[in-house]
Amino acid sequence: MTGKPSHKDLSPATIVAFLADIFERRGGEEYLGEPVTMAEHMLQGAFLAEQQHEPEIIIVAALLHDIGHFTSEFGTFSMDDTHDRHHEEAGARVLEHFFPSLVIDCVRQHVAAKRYICATDPTYFGQLSAASIHSLKLQGGPMNAREVAEFETNPNVRDIVRVRRFDDAGKIAGMATPGFAYFAPMVQRIVDERCR
Ligand code: FE
Repeated sequence: MTGKPSHKDLSPATIVAFLADIFERRGGEEYLGEPVTMAEHMLQGAFLAEQQHEPEIIIVAALLHDIGHFTSEFGTFSMDDTHDRHHEEAGARVLEHFFPSLVIDCVRQHVAAKRYICATDPTYFGQLSAASIHSLKLQGGPMNAREVAEFETNPNVRDIVRVRRFDDAGKIAGMATPGFAYFAPMVQRIVDERCR
């Protein structure tokens, strides 16, 4: 799809094909600063979640967390960026009509989750990639105590953090994963759960 996708053109019956098409056409784009493409990054996060026997809703959230890199008009992240492009909000806006609120929270909050874990886990910063540290600065750096307290009021905070861990893990050069088609029936099940 060229131009901005509109959720008005989408339905529970077409959203999965729409997402598959994005992965197919644009998934090969570089995830700038990382040794994987955008599709590899998201597929690795989902695959790692599945290997750790996470529930389908967490696997799907990991699979789709960065979809806003494709669906927003802002383009993909660049190491030259001097401002934050808010891809998490763009992704959440496209998905929120079709997916359960837990998935939307994991997508919308995955950047905040990085800022949160930086503030609450002293070992975390050392695990971040150079690109992720660069974007962290643009995103406001680690949360302060007030922001941490507020973030913890989200009832989905534990799942948001879990998905963020798969996001960080899914940056492995050369790691083989199944393609989007493998996960598509699972994505559809989560859509059906919400849209039933
Ligand atoms: Fe990511």
